[in-house]
Amino acid sequence: MAKIRMKNAVVEMDGDEMARVLWALVKERLLLPFVDLKTEYYDLCIANRDRTGDGVTVESANAIVRAGVGVKCATITSNAARMAEYGLAALTASPNATIRAILDGTVFRKPIAVARVKPTVRSWKWPIVIARHAYGDVYKNAEMLVPGAGKLELVWTSLDGAERRVLVADMKAAGIAQGMHNLDESIRSFARCCFRMARDEGLPLWFAAKDTISKIYDGRFKDIFQEVFEGEFAGSGVAYHYSLIDDAVARIVKCEGGLVWACKNYDGDVMSDMVASASGSLAMMTSVLVSPSGAYEYEAAHGTVQRHYYRWLKGEKTSTNPVALIFAWTGALIKRAELDGVPRLFDFAKRLEAKTLATIESGWMTADLAAIAEPAPARALDSEEFIAKIAQGM
Ligand code: NAP
Ligand code: MG
Repeated sequence: MAKIRMKNAVVEMDGDEMARVLWALVKERLLLPFVDLKTEYYDLCIANRDRTGDGVTVESANAIVRAGVGVKCATITSNAARMAEYGLAALTASPNATIRAILDGTVFRKPIAVARVKPTVRSWKWPIVIARHAYGDVYKNAEMLVPGAGKLELVWTSLDGAERRVLVADMKAAGIAQGMHNLDESIRSFARCCFRMARDEGLPLWFAAKDTISKIYDGRFKDIFQEVFEGEFAGSGVAYHYSLIDDAVARIVKCEGGLVWACKNYDGDVMSDMVASASGSLAMMTSVLVSPSGAYEYEAAHGTVQRHYYRWLKGEKTSTNPVALIFAWTGALIKRAELDGVPRLFDFAKRLEAKTLATIESGWMTADLAAIAEPAPARALDSEEFIAKIAQGM
């Protein structure tokens, strides 16, 4: 069979550690034998981000805006420990935060369900799609170590020099401070993305914040969601429900699932890991960033799987689950196929997804799933064995 031809390229962002090892393996065994893969490649490994003063990250994000579709491997977010480990010249921002700030938009995360793996939360019958606002808040904050007693203020200066200030605290001693922001237009497009997703999937939409405490900041989110709902989606059939974030969390673990849960940036970061892990495994979660400009970035919800990588470096075969990385690729290829009108590419990506799930259903899986599958398989496969099983008969 001739390899499937692509019309336009997908922007490919390579990453770090175990995720990078699996990335190469997935391409080599599951994509390249079947597809004449067209990608615009950016190496976002930590050494290259450091070498380019993080320029490569910004370039890759701009490339997604241009090309319309990107796929990203998990990357290390640098911190003091990583700086020492990799001998970095400087700390760089989280690549995901940088990319999200450029694309704006909303991150949708949806568990990849398999019948053999029952969610930890017994009441969940259907997947919970988490919609994470991808702009601003603590991910674009400014922070300060406050050296001692003094007045801490929030100051806004307009373009013509007018000022507005509020007192944050009259600090009696040294401490810490943080300033963050968001934009009405970003919140509005986030709300629109969520209502559209809920309408298209035929699911109710929940949104939650803490407007009782944060009357202006979280209150603004609540008001904008209500405006968008009443102004644009009131007659669309979407059931919309606002509650306080703590109330929403309490209800989520008692509900049957089958809803879109819109979360502010930080809530989405934390809650998507909770939903992923309670749905089975962090490696069974898809993630796509949908930008209001119409660009899509697909990735796995998990990180670089550092602990497995250290074992792999010692020569051990690890049983790291590649499913979320495979689905990042299929998501990107399906979107590319739809935009470019390439049905063979579309069919291939769908077949690869189905084959991956069927492989697990027939008892071949990695250790994270083997530990929770019912019935349990005779043994867990290592990553290479699992990928080879998927490739068999593709
Ligand atoms: P992680 O890479 O998601 O891994 C946390 C743990 O979850 C692993 O140790 C493993 O548990 C389990 N796990 C995650 N993915 C798995 C997979 N595919 N197969 C099997 N088990 C899996 O998070 P982390 O260790 O906290 O972070 C490592 C690095 O990733 C950090 O440098 C962080 O900055 C980065 N990170 C990047 C992204 C991103 O680029 N999107 C997201 C999150 C974190 P066991 O060890 O118990 O098997
Ligand atoms: Mg997270």
